[in-house]
Amino acid sequence: MSALFPELADGSAKPALHFGDQILSHARLHAAAVALARRLAGHGRVAVWATPAPETAVAAVACLLAGVPVIPVNPKSGARELVHIVTDSAPSLILAPPGAVLPEALAALPRLDTALAAGDEPDGGAPPEPGPEHPALIVYTSGTTGPPKGVVVPHRAVAATLDALADAWQWTGEDVVVHALPLFHVHGLVLGVLGPLRRGGTVRHLGRFSPEGVADALSDGGTMLFGVPTMYHRLAEAAGADDRIAAALAGARLLVSGSAPLPRTDHERIEAATGRRVIERYGMTETMMNTSVRADAPPATGTVGVPLPGVEVRLVDESGRPVAGGDGETVGEIQVRGPNLFTEYLGRPDATAAAFDGDWFRTGDMATRDAAGCYRIVGRKSTDLIKSGGYKIGAGEIENVLLTHPGVAEAAVTAAPDPDLGERIVAWIVPRDETSPPSAQELTDHVAGQLASHKRPREVRFLAMLPRNDMGKVLKKELA
Ligand code: ATP
Ligand code: MG
Repeated sequence: MSALFPELADGSAKPALHFGDQILSHARLHAAAVALARRLAGHGRVAVWATPAPETAVAAVACLLAGVPVIPVNPKSGARELVHIVTDSAPSLILAPPGAVLPEALAALPRLDTALAAGDEPDGGAPPEPGPEHPALIVYTSGTTGPPKGVVVPHRAVAATLDALADAWQWTGEDVVVHALPLFHVHGLVLGVLGPLRRGGTVRHLGRFSPEGVADALSDGGTMLFGVPTMYHRLAEAAGADDRIAAALAGARLLVSGSAPLPRTDHERIEAATGRRVIERYGMTETMMNTSVRADAPPATGTVGVPLPGVEVRLVDESGRPVAGGDGETVGEIQVRGPNLFTEYLGRPDATAAAFDGDWFRTGDMATRDAAGCYRIVGRKSTDLIKSGGYKIGAGEIENVLLTHPGVAEAAVTAAPDPDLGERIVAWIVPRDETSPPSAQELTDHVAGQLASHKRPREVRFLAMLPRNDMGKVLKKELA
């Protein structure tokens, strides 16, 4: 029996992977993964070209069974990114579809192999599985605040986070998880693929995101939807205009959002169209999942819920002292500890040491905690906390208000240096109608009408679109 995938060897005919129109049963996945695992023996680390295809899932499971750390690689990486990741992580093999790997990257890496040695076909069971502290994955962070860092994730953290989510979401082998997330980050790969396989359930990957595709999959047996906020934004618009999409969303057991904050307006529009609320969970590459709204609790919209079982969460002030919290107002940096934590940043002992306060991991995210124990993310310490005129102001609160203006399609708030205020609030606006955007004055008045006056933007800039990465996260450093 596999420690990470206890259900897999049962060899059931039930679908494990359903990608587009390709379906692989648990039995076939098991056979394919064991066969590959036996041929991977002796490899150090293996990069997996993470296309949204069953092969990616088979490759990842095989590596995990063989105790070979998996480095999931963005198949749309340019040569520079690819060379950065493979020189940083030094895989001995890259598993990729023929022709997929950029020749420039291969030229830079003479020791990298793209072919698996033939022969030694398996004639028995799976190879012995690695222990809990053995590295399972080396996942690169999303690169929202700087160059992506390689995060070494042990088997123990993958198992702990998936079991904690099973508890919080009442997630079982009966569930069919629907998503269209990339498979080179924690959200899509660990939660979206390894999660259903650990439970003995099914992952239904859409290949490409579309509201229609989501509705089809949910109407055809899908029970849980995993998405990032940009997807829920499009689902909110589609559900408002199309009853079939609204009904499909209403029929799901759980709608889960994560990776970035889901704006209040999108929460409200989805609820208005479907009668259902999206729940949010909060996690990081370094920590897997930390908190979630629970399936068996009130939806606590606008919060990321409570600590998952086994995870300890605390808020600390600027000098690192724990703050009481519980009032829904006091802001502190989130620190976490528990079995969900990573081992280290690959090859960066200084960054690893700086990320910890004893055994507590400093997330760099700021939050409040309410009386019910639910955390509300205010934003990142580095980009979302604006120090203006002696106040500390969270960008997210202002973004949420800007988004309620009918002329605003997207909004991001950043800080700019200011001689009087220290920092001044800058609003970046994508107007709904480019030909008649709202005036800057109208938008500042709109904010001042709903929030304290020191929270109104001092400067408003209009853009055709916000810079975002592949997870739809706004790249605030690029705006500034
Ligand atoms: P980098 O570390 O390279 O700058 P990143 O932090 O975006 O990139 P990830 O590890 O993929 O890389 O993302 C973790 C971050 O995503 C968290 O620290 C948090 O800021 C944000 N996040 C995740 N879930 C949520 C959520 N539900 N609400 C708000 N923010 C979230
Ligand atoms: Mg980060």
